[in-house]
Amino acid sequence: MSALSELCEQIALCQQCELAKSRTRVVPGEGAGDADIMFIGEAPGWHEDQQGRPFVGPAGQFLDKLLASINLKREQVYIANVIKCRPTGNRDPLPAEIRNCRPWLERQIEIICPRMIVTLGRYSMAMFFPGKTISKIHGTAQKRDNVIYYAMYHPAAALHQQSLKQAIEADMLKIPTLLAEAKTIREEKPQPQQLSMFEV
Ligand code: URA
Repeated sequence: MSALSELCEQIALCQQCELAKSRTRVVPGEGAGDADIMFIGEAPGWHEDQQGRPFVGPAGQFLDKLLASINLKREQVYIANVIKCRPTGNRDPLPAEIRNCRPWLERQIEIICPRMIVTLGRYSMAMFFPGKTISKIHGTAQKRDNVIYYAMYHPAAALHQQSLKQAIEADMLKIPTLLAEAKTIREEKPQPQQLSMFEV
């Protein structure tokens, strides 16, 4: 079994916080274990909690369309969330939940070693672009330690607001160029210990 599958099995057994009692299924993440690009959302919603898979509800269908707009399928990327269990009643994740879940995400990133990390929404943005505001930095990239970090609006937010929808569609179209650049940064994939992720 691959290191990533083993990790996802461990995540699926997690009992570290109260969400373990209310969840239907854990949503560890899915996609290619050697993906060049990783998308990180916020937390599972109702549909994801039912199926144990990330982004399978309306926001996920929109994400699939956005991926298709740059000729990517979800099997070619890795999709994960900041927290792996659905917050009760779809509330925002609590700081303690984010802290508890953080080592899972760190380990996923270490194993996958993506060349590019795309944050979807403000919770995941806060982990990689500390102190920034999404309305200011969406569609912009930072290159750090051989990885390109790129911030986007959350597809769920964009679904309900036309201006955000146009912004997220335009931001997605910038990814192929950035990804091509990320592939030239170094021939080897980045080393895990070079990852820069911040405390929030
Ligand atoms: N919203 C997220 O942030 N993640 C999901 O998996 C689904 C909806």
